[in-house]
Amino acid sequence: MTEKISLAKETKQILNENGIILNKNLGQNYLIDDFKRKKIIEYAKLTKDDTVLEIGPGIGTLTIELAKKAKHVIAIEQDTTIFNILKKRLEKEGIDNVELINGDAVKVDFPEFNKIVSNLPYQISSPISFKFLKSDFDLAILMYQKEFADRMNGKVGTKQYSRLSAMLYFKAEVKFLTKVSPESFIPSPKVDSSVVQLKPKNIKSIKIDDEEFAIDDETYKVYSKVVKAMFQHRNKKSKNALIDSRHIIGFKDKKELKAILNNLEDENPKVKELLLERTINLSPESIMELSILLKDHLK
Ligand code: SAH
Repeated sequence: MTEKISLAKETKQILNENGIILNKNLGQNYLIDDFKRKKIIEYAKLTKDDTVLEIGPGIGTLTIELAKKAKHVIAIEQDTTIFNILKKRLEKEGIDNVELINGDAVKVDFPEFNKIVSNLPYQISSPISFKFLKSDFDLAILMYQKEFADRMNGKVGTKQYSRLSAMLYFKAEVKFLTKVSPESFIPSPKVDSSVVQLKPKNIKSIKIDDEEFAIDDETYKVYSKVVKAMFQHRNKKSKNALIDSRHIIGFKDKKELKAILNNLEDENPKVKELLLERTINLSPESIMELSILLKDHLK
């Protein structure tokens, strides 16, 4: 009689057989919770039309389930020893629709895909998420450190509202799906984790006083700088935050920027209102508005 062994047992067995000691610095926290694995796979609503990108497959805990349900899986693993273990495991299981790439997912070019499913290495959460959003895809189901996930989804005026929330706002819809506790992994991380759904947003313009303004790459670049500068002083009035972080928006001279902002305030009551508000109380739309109004005056 074959007994179905638990995911925890199976994982430990594979690691032991290969003499692997997981490296926390590489974000190696392997999922051993079968129920959470099922949930993650369900959230992805896979069909045989889907090509799934997976970052950090490890020994294949998600990969094998993804391969059963999707047409094709592309999995990028940086650790060469782990990569080789997974390669052998897939061969042994007769799984032939997984393309394994041995490399740093932040650096390698992504092939085409339409979904992403990953239990991410947490140390690359930020760069990898922004890299995802440069690609065209339908849906991503991603595990992050809970605190990071909360900041992705931070609402205006709350402690979680951050540079990350404002930067993602125009690029993706972020939805919290489920919490995962440290015991669901080996080794157990010190923090809780969250599974999050991302769907790309395609916001092309914003209306300011009945006039439509494009949010093109150039505008988003200005917005990125303004957001970065402002959130360095999130509790200050946005005008003071911009002045204090003036180097980020291209100014050395405090007086010069102050004069420009004062002028703009005098010309436009909307600018005045926005510059008087504290950063954490300005919605992403308001910061975008301000960025557009300031755009021609920044360097
Ligand atoms: N998906 C597996 C493993 C998650 S741990 C599971 O759920 O059990 C994260 C994995 O990402 C580790 O195997 C680690 O070696 C790998 N990794 C870390 N940094 C990486 C990077 N920059 N690019 C690709 N993989 C990376």
